[in-house]
Amino acid sequence: MTTLRCERVLQLTLAVIKPDAVAHPLILETLHQKILENNFIVVRKKDLWWRRKDSESFYAEHSGRFFYQRLVEFMSRQVCGPMRAYILAREDAVAHWRELMGPTKVYRARYTAPNSVRALYGLTDTRNTTHGSDSAESAKREIAFFFPEFSVQQWLDKEEQRFRAGHVEYD
Ligand code: ADP
Repeated sequence: MTTLRCERVLQLTLAVIKPDAVAHPLILETLHQKILENNFIVVRKKDLWWRRKDSESFYAEHSGRFFYQRLVEFMSRQVCGPMRAYILAREDAVAHWRELMGPTKVYRARYTAPNSVRALYGLTDTRNTTHGSDSAESAKREIAFFFPEFSVQQWLDKEEQRFRAGHVEYD
């Protein structure tokens, strides 16, 4: 008898819906549906505000660039409403979420990826609806930033055990 096992190599990514998109219930709901339709597993989800120092710290690599202050303020509580952070899992989660988002700059997204989230819902390069980790390494770092209580390694180990035991269904 041959047993067919469907191998799933899951990867985690950190996805954020920025305050401009969270502020519009219809866009927020559309983005949530897109996540589900694209076969992501929602591992964790939370709405949160950043203090200015969280925003400065998260975007420290851009410190000194012309858009930095604008971005830091936009992502801080003083200026806007909450953002929504997700830990998402699926095969090639990092690349798939980035593809769904589209290019950073909204005008470029509209020309090169017209069906992407940023092309459809982005307002400006700062208010560009979403953030996504750009590698597995940065996903690990960014997940720890947003969800300090969550252990990527533990989750992956548990996933491995579930797979070996044949439990591949998610709620
Ligand atoms: P991405 O969000 O596509 O991964 P980056 O990590 O390089 O892009 O930049 C973080 C955020 O900084 C972007 O989402 C965008 O809001 C802003 N940003 C980056 N580059 C520019 C730019 N050249 N002009 C304006 N805003 C920018």
